[in-house]
Amino acid sequence: MKYAFSGKTAFVTGGTRGIGKAITEKLLAADAAVVIAYSTSQKDAETMCRMAEADGRRLFAVKCNVGDPVEVKAAFDFIEKHLGRLDFLVNNAGITRDGLAVRMSDEQWLSVMATDLNGVFYCTRSALRLMMKQKYGRIVNIASIVGLTGNAGQSNYAAAKAGIIGFSKSVAREMGSRDILINTITPGYIETDMVSGIPEAMKSRMLGSIPLGRYGSPNDVAGTVCFLLSEDAGYINGAVIDVNGGMY
Ligand code: NDP
Repeated sequence: MKYAFSGKTAFVTGGTRGIGKAITEKLLAADAAVVIAYSTSQKDAETMCRMAEADGRRLFAVKCNVGDPVEVKAAFDFIEKHLGRLDFLVNNAGITRDGLAVRMSDEQWLSVMATDLNGVFYCTRSALRLMMKQKYGRIVNIASIVGLTGNAGQSNYAAAKAGIIGFSKSVAREMGSRDILINTITPGYIETDMVSGIPEAMKSRMLGSIPLGRYGSPNDVAGTVCFLLSEDAGYINGAVIDVNGGMY
């Protein structure tokens, strides 16, 4: 489906790779002005900005560790200065630090909480301040199937992703009357860097549990994000949308 986001502005966290990059490219193709946050991929961010400019699109990149409230505040200062308003926030940045709960270090637990859950809170809080003034906003969070099913070796990640769902449903109740909608996508297995280290045997077991018989692509998630940001989704709020090929 083609979307038209001319005049809209968006902030996508983790916009340089994988799912975030696909979301950014779809938003730019629909004519939105986009700011992406990167943590380490400065070169990729700069390349994307150059390519977008050559294409006549408006793309800006900010270095912003979403788990650090000071950096998030600076990113929103940048957004206010360069875009003036914020229509769409996509909380996409995420990491994994897998290990069994019994052996999990504080660092493994806290780093995943900081990026995957605290980051969603910090960015959403700042976005809401702008969106409340505008009386308009759309927020989409990228959680995970693992936040619904749990997964051995991913208790930290599952807890953070399940936390996003509760957070999102609460904000949906707080903000609906201001035409600020917030929804969560729970992707299944999507082929990106994040899953590239999974052993082949485990991958083929997973494939067997996907009724569509294929892994998801970043574009499968990006398409759903654009739908949720569009006016066609204007009555969807506090929802959790599976994008998993029927896996769960
Ligand atoms: P990738 O590992 O390919 O990309 C992760 C992105 O997050 C990168 O752009 C990275 O930026 C950014 N990022 C990581 N830490 C931070 C941070 N502290 N601050 C800002 N940005 C950060 O992952 P995917 O594209 O696969 O995942 C995107 C989202 O989708 C994540 O939330 C993930 O949990 C979720 N997801 C993914 C699934 C999958 O199968 N791939 C399944 C279910 C959910 P940089 O390169 O600059 O470090």
